[in-house]
Amino acid sequence: MKRIGMLEEASYDYILNADYAALLADELGFNPIVDDEAAFDIYPPPPHPSPSSLPSRPPIVTIMGHVDHGKTTLLDTLRSASVAKGEAGGITQHIGAFSVPVKISQGGNMVDASQTITFLDTPGHAAFSAMRARGADITDIIVLVVAADDGIMPQTKEVINLLKKEETHTNLVVAINKVDKPGINTDAVKKALMAEGIQLEEFGGDIPSVSVSGLTGQGLPELVEIISAVAEMQDLRAEQEGPAYGHVLESNIHKGLGSVATVLVRRGSLKRGTQIISGTSHGKIRLMVDSKGVSVATALPGMAVTVSGWKTLPKAGDEVLEGSDADIKKALANRVRKAEAESMQQDIDVINTTRRQERDARAEGNTEGPKPDSDSGPKQVKIFIKADVSGSGEALEGALDGMGNKLVVSKVIATGVGDVSENDVMRAQAANATIVAFSVSVPRAIRTLATRHEVPILTSDIIYRLMEDIRSSLIALLPPII
Ligand code: GDP
Repeated sequence: MKRIGMLEEASYDYILNADYAALLADELGFNPIVDDEAAFDIYPPPPHPSPSSLPSRPPIVTIMGHVDHGKTTLLDTLRSASVAKGEAGGITQHIGAFSVPVKISQGGNMVDASQTITFLDTPGHAAFSAMRARGADITDIIVLVVAADDGIMPQTKEVINLLKKEETHTNLVVAINKVDKPGINTDAVKKALMAEGIQLEEFGGDIPSVSVSGLTGQGLPELVEIISAVAEMQDLRAEQEGPAYGHVLESNIHKGLGSVATVLVRRGSLKRGTQIISGTSHGKIRLMVDSKGVSVATALPGMAVTVSGWKTLPKAGDEVLEGSDADIKKALANRVRKAEAESMQQDIDVINTTRRQERDARAEGNTEGPKPDSDSGPKQVKIFIKADVSGSGEALEGALDGMGNKLVVSKVIATGVGDVSENDVMRAQAANATIVAFSVSVPRAIRTLATRHEVPILTSDIIYRLMEDIRSSLIALLPPII
């Protein structure tokens, strides 16, 4: 252990070179593999050694609940309450997240706007589910909205199960909504929640609940206060120094600005003019705009800003890192190389599968050429998604991919952003796929083209309707019961 002895003299900020690190791993009984490529990527900064000394940051809050229980209305009311009357611009815009001051405006006068809460309103909340699936749990608090006139419904239970299942630091606040309606009984809802294992404060548990109306604004100041109290207990802090690190909430092509992405800053300060990378997208930040449409030069942890200056469109859920020009260039070259190698491997896999199918078909004496799916595996309904923003595309991909059973299964083969184009129809035809158009338009000429080429196009703004349509396509492919 003599060589380790030498290392003990090194301080915590001592950087080991690859040879030295490999030696140490070897001493400890591991079998190290030195990945030279990895040296050309950049990574999030390591956690701060003494987090309690850091400045506090706003909590990141997501509103969840059953469809029609009033999530959108609640978010809209909170968003407009976040702008004091007479404030510059006074116009809020949808960027996937917005900040609300802890003391919200009552009668037009804003009180103490220094502390804020960041609400996420990413489409279908699924971009954030995708991030969570990848281990990036960006939400500190979930507000579960339950309509008082409807009570606990399937999606309410889904949220409860999600919270029960996960080892998560996320705290829960219950908002019983639509209390402006006549004849509602909030006690019944509370009892039903208790029966589901939600230990409400007023029954001796630790989960706060508040009665609200997203429509009239009743109870919203209390909701904001409760969220802020929960956040205070969580003692949320983040360093503001050093290179910025964050996540893309959503991205789209803006007519004047090109590729834009809403970035939620998690650590450090994101500054105009710096170089950033996300996946294989990169760029120099040209403009940063907050949810009030105000241009900002710096975004601190907990803030969400739309960032323009990207060379290509980044993907919702991907990490964003800031770095020097040289580091970003090296990381980009490395990532592009890796992505190309992966895509080449996928092409090779497709070619191999097709060849295998051809061989199998020949062996069976079938001269009609390859079948769309291998006989050994389940039949497939192939899907090509076109969505309005990459966040909803990801959400849809999560919902539609892998539906079915041992005999028939759905498979998303590609996901893109923007209206359905001629090119999309041709791609779908070549792949024998169904186009799913979510919140995008399908020009009449394109629809005609699709009909001519027998490419089915499903359109809807509602994920579960599209799931139903795909389910019907799967059922249609099932073999007849004899
Ligand atoms: P979401 O599907 O959860 O986003 O629900 P929405 O916000 O779209 O609301 C569904 C319906 O409930 C709409 O017709 C709203 O006007 C209505 N709604 C939402 N919040 C309230 C409320 O607090 N009171 C009443 N009376 N109606 C509400």
